[in-house]
Amino acid sequence: MPSCSFCSRQAVGSYALTDLNGEPDDPASWRRAVAPVCKSCHTALAEASDGGRVLKATGERWWLGHGQGKFAEPGNSMTGQWERA
Ligand SMILES: [Zn+2]
Repeated sequence: MPSCSFCSRQAVGSYALTDLNGEPDDPASWRRAVAPVCKSCHTALAEASDGGRVLKATGERWWLGHGQGKFAEPGNSMTGQWERA
């Protein structure tokens, strides 16, 4: 397993994530990803639920799953990685 996307610990798996970097009202600020996450960061994201967690290093807010965000075309993301969390 690669290292966690949020810290230096070893990831336990790759998870669907949603990233907000900018204005929440702007669909261009939202990004969906699938990235390696460690156990403790996964727990933190899961506990954050709909509030998400801000990654202090980048100022981006992250959610577990792909259920958040304002996407212009919800079923057809730019990366083509749309999947239900
Ligand atoms: Zn981590």
